[in-house]
Amino acid sequence: MTTFSFEFFPPKTPAGETTLWEAIRRVEALGPDFVSVTYGAGGSSRDRTVAVTKRIAAETTLRPVAHLTAVGHSVAELRHIIGQYADAGICDVLALRGDPPGDPRGGWQAHPRGLSYAIELVELVRSLGDFTTGVAAFPEGHPRATSLDEDVRHFVAKCRAGADYAITQMFFDVETYLRFRDRVAAAGCSTPVIPEIMPATDYRQICRFAELSDAAFPEDLAHRLERARHDPATSYRIGVDHATAMADRLLVEGAPGLHYITLNRSTAAVDIHRNVQSSRSFHVR
Ligand code: FAD
Repeated sequence: MTTFSFEFFPPKTPAGETTLWEAIRRVEALGPDFVSVTYGAGGSSRDRTVAVTKRIAAETTLRPVAHLTAVGHSVAELRHIIGQYADAGICDVLALRGDPPGDPRGGWQAHPRGLSYAIELVELVRSLGDFTTGVAAFPEGHPRATSLDEDVRHFVAKCRAGADYAITQMFFDVETYLRFRDRVAAAGCSTPVIPEIMPATDYRQICRFAELSDAAFPEDLAHRLERARHDPATSYRIGVDHATAMADRLLVEGAPGLHYITLNRSTAAVDIHRNVQSSRSFHVR
């Protein structure tokens, strides 16, 4: 079965909350397999993640996946958060290490009574109940990994620790995903790796994301977006067309699903998804 899913983040303001819920309702009408809510670096943003995830579980027909990171948490705190989710009937967790607060490129420091790697969070979540557990995958290698081989080894270890699936970091070239998938398969790992689809509809925003995530950005796409940077409608069309072509090819190549980043505005993600559905003879489900 091919899955499709959407990612949201916890909003900071009441206006952001309204925008988020409009997007959630639009996405709900499409009947995705799940929606995920990212986990912030600080206390209030984290509380909002928990609140939004619980509200999705309580007030919609959607299946929420809660992102959770080890940053700044003791094991006891992580247990408490996972317990809160279980109480709310949420049994899907994306287990992540997270980045150091402030400077995502800074040195990693584990909480003195916390965890050092995502694999330990996978083990913790699995030990606490019947959770479906996802992990992160980095088709271009994690920025801190000394080599792609080493990163793939650690990725496979965290899959073997009990991950049911993985979602990738954003990427803009399908070959990157295919090479990573082949490396993982060659290491004897069959955990489904769901590609993340980031609509590249805004030149400046995408440059910032690509820089933060170390994702290589195709020159041709960069030039076209740059030329259209004062023309939002053209930029939008370029980004949606590129993402649609990527998504189509990924499915032809056997990707197990598509995970769309929404940035809490569902329009581009929904347009891409509709394009993908209409260009295929079967429904993505
Ligand atoms: P890990 O799997 O622990 O890997 C981190 C680094 O350690 C890698 O370089 C890996 O090769 C290395 N490593 C792993 N195991 C070992 C070991 N045993 N010995 C030595 N080295 C090891 N961040 C957030 O803050 N909130 C979010 O909601 C969020 N959502 C994300 C969703 C997706 C789909 C992705 C791809 C990333 C997300 N991130 C999020 C970012 C992520 O938390 C960071 O990129 C983080 O640096 C890596 O997390 P990880 O879970 O892959 O860590």
